[in-house]
Order: sequence, then structure tokens, then C-alpha cells
Amino acid sequence: MSKKVLIIGLDCAAPELVFEKFLDELPNIKKMTNHGVFGKLKSCIPPITIPAWMVMMTSRDPGTLGLYGFRHKKSYSYDVWIASSRNIKHKTIWDIISEKGLKSCVVGVPPSYPPKPVNGCLVSCFITPDATKDYTYPPELKKELEEQFGEYIFDVEFRTEKRDEVLEKTYEMTKQHFEVIKYLIKEKDWNFFTFVEIGLDRIHHSFWKFFDKKHPKHVPNNKYENVVKEYYKYLDQRIGEILNIIDDNTIVLLVSDHGAKGMKGAFCINQWLMREGYLKLKTEPERGARIEESQIDWSKTRAWGWGGYYARIFINVEGREPQGTVIPEDYEKVLDELIEKIKNIKGENGEKFDNKVYNPEDIYEELNGDYPDLIVYLDDLYWRSAGTVGYDTLYLPENDTGPDDAVHSEYGVFILYDPTKKSGSELQNLNILDVAPTVLSIMEVPIPKEMLGKAITW
Ligand SMILES: [Zn+2]
Repeated sequence: MSKKVLIIGLDCAAPELVFEKFLDELPNIKKMTNHGVFGKLKSCIPPITIPAWMVMMTSRDPGTLGLYGFRHKKSYSYDVWIASSRNIKHKTIWDIISEKGLKSCVVGVPPSYPPKPVNGCLVSCFITPDATKDYTYPPELKKELEEQFGEYIFDVEFRTEKRDEVLEKTYEMTKQHFEVIKYLIKEKDWNFFTFVEIGLDRIHHSFWKFFDKKHPKHVPNNKYENVVKEYYKYLDQRIGEILNIIDDNTIVLLVSDHGAKGMKGAFCINQWLMREGYLKLKTEPERGARIEESQIDWSKTRAWGWGGYYARIFINVEGREPQGTVIPEDYEKVLDELIEKIKNIKGENGEKFDNKVYNPEDIYEELNGDYPDLIVYLDDLYWRSAGTVGYDTLYLPENDTGPDDAVHSEYGVFILYDPTKKSGSELQNLNILDVAPTVLSIMEVPIPKEMLGKAITW
């Protein structure tokens, strides 16, 4: 009988915390590392929740999936669309194994709203608008879960100063999610079970500065100092309960889509583009105005950007954008000039930034969907990109879209727990693309040749 696989997905789990700082206080996770293999898991470019989880579940890169974040530019217009499950056109692990008649249980894997049919059951993810919507497959599963666990909680509002509330609601959500997961593990028929808990990402973003002594805004002996560690310990206990109810024929993976680190500040990318003469507004914006709501003078604009953990830069190309100004013959020249200038962006006091600038054409296997012209990491992601305008500085100490203390880092975690194995060892060079082929090889299902990763052996 082929083995079963269970994936415990902890959004944003950081290897420095899981494998080093907190490991001795996480007995169940420590046990997992002692029976199998583990290591840092290199995320995709960009290391963002959407697309990273689907990169993991399909072993295709963001370019192939045509997914570069939550928001995308609608073709080459100036409008925006938001990612949903409808944008996933490539086969996930659960699609592939269903062709062999194998069953799956999928809970909270972004983006999985609206719910699509699976051979098994599915509960959609944190992008679900609210619990009045249909969020399960089969549809009647919603009632079955609500009767026992109450109204399903998809997410918590976390970019707020009401931190006690964030904490209380995150615990409430996580507790419910683990109850639902244990119920589904026990009651449903599955060969592959995968879930993603978003609570850890919310806790990192809300509470990172309170424990990280190197964070620019850390205050010693504050009341939230142990929040992050306590939450990891809570997750560890819940993971222990899961390990107790699975059999020895099940391989358990614990993974994250990216890591986290302290945010140093937000760099005003559009403000910078204005200073450099690429972007022109018709009217003086108010402080913190969103670029989408500002009066952009497209006839004098050559490039503009979006904020987020990374910056997306768009060139305003004649014949491509509705009011393009850069003639196609000059596109490469403008791009190269921008790349050079962005690489040289420095800190407020002239300190060196480790900026990374990617041209999507160079980094992906295929290039689908609405990709930006450039993908930019400011100071290796330590600085967020602020898309808002109206500042007299390029450097904001705070995030421009609400309180946030953490940014994403390129490496997440990977643990493969084989209950029958007597020892654990650390692996190097693990990649998020390797997860799906690894799962398929454990389940003895052929790995489609289009998958970009390779099965991990242990
Ligand atoms: Zn994430």
C-alpha cells in the first residue's frame, strides 16, 4: 500500500525561529526533525503567499502560473484584478493524484476561493470574503463543519494598533482551524491531506518588533515580548495532536511559503520615480495618497510602481498601454537605465542597500499573465515598497498601509517527518518547487515532466 502524505503548512514560518531560536521549546517539531530530513526551503520570486503556495502545490514558477501577487494589472490597462482560484490553470498535487483515483483533503491553501471540485474535500482560504459564501467542496461540507465548529473564521485583521484584539482573534481562528483539521483527518477518506494556517503570518506582522532585539523599533521588556514564541509553542502543541492521530504509513511535511524578518522601513517607490522624472502627477497629492487614486499625467509618465513586500515597476509603452509614452524601440533602454538606477538606491543616510532587480523574462520558465516589467527587492526585502505618494521623503519608518513590523524573507522551512526513521538530518539547497515532486514520489505517482522541481530523497 502506497504511503499517505499530510502537509502542515504554516504561512510565514521562519527557519531562524523554527530550527534555531525556538526549537528546544517546540518538542513536537523537534521530534519531526529527529525522524527524517529538514532544512531551509528557498521560496519563489517573489516570496509572497500568493503565488508561493501554488508554486509549491504545482511545482511551476510564478511566470508559468501567471501569478505575481494578490493584485495584477489588467492586461496593459491601468486597471487591477485580484487573484482567486479561477486563475490557477495548472495541475496541483490533488489534481494529479485524483487521476489515479487517490483522494485529497485541502484546507486553506491560497488561493482556493471560490472552491473548485476535488476528489475528496476542500475548504477555501483566507481570501474568502466571509462565511455566508460557499467555501467548501462538496458544498454540504460547509454545514457539516458549521454545525460542529461554528461560523468558519478565514482571517483576522492584522494591520492595526489593536494588538490585543489581533492576538485574541488569531488564537480563536487557529484553535478552530486545528479542530476542523483534526476532524477531517479522522472522519474523511484521504491519501493526501494539505492545510495552510495563516495565523502565524498575522502574528509575525503584528508582533515581530516586540521580540526581535535588532528591530529598529524594538523596546526592551515590553508586554508582547513573548507573543511570537508562545504562538509557535501553541502551534507545536496542536501539531503534536495531529501527529498522535496519524498512522505510521503517513509521511508528514511541515512547510512554509516564505520566512519573515524585521522591517526596516518603507521606501516610496513612486515618489522616487517622480524625483527621477519617470512619473508625473497632474495635481499635488495629499500625504499618503494611493497612486491609483492620484491624477497621473500619463502623457508625461514613462514608469510607475506598486507597493508591497516587493516593488513592481511598469513601463508606460506606446501602443501597449492606453496612453503609452515610451516608444517600443526605447523600451530596453529605459528598462536598463531604470535597473541601473534602482540598483543604486541607497538608504536615507547614504548606507548601502542590497537591491535586487529582476526582469521577469529572465527568471521564469514561461511568461504568462499580467507580469510587471520589473520585480524589485529593496535592500534584500528589508525595506517594503510604498506605492503611496505625497511625501517629502523617500523613507518612511512605518508601512504605508497600516502597522506592520515584519517583511518576508526568501527562505521558509521544510521538514519531512517519517515516523519509521530513527534519525534526522539537515539538507541544503531545498527549493519550494521540490515539494510537489517529493509528495508524488512518496505516493508512488509518476511526476509530470513539466514540473520544475525534483523529488527530495532521504
Ligand atoms: Zn505567506
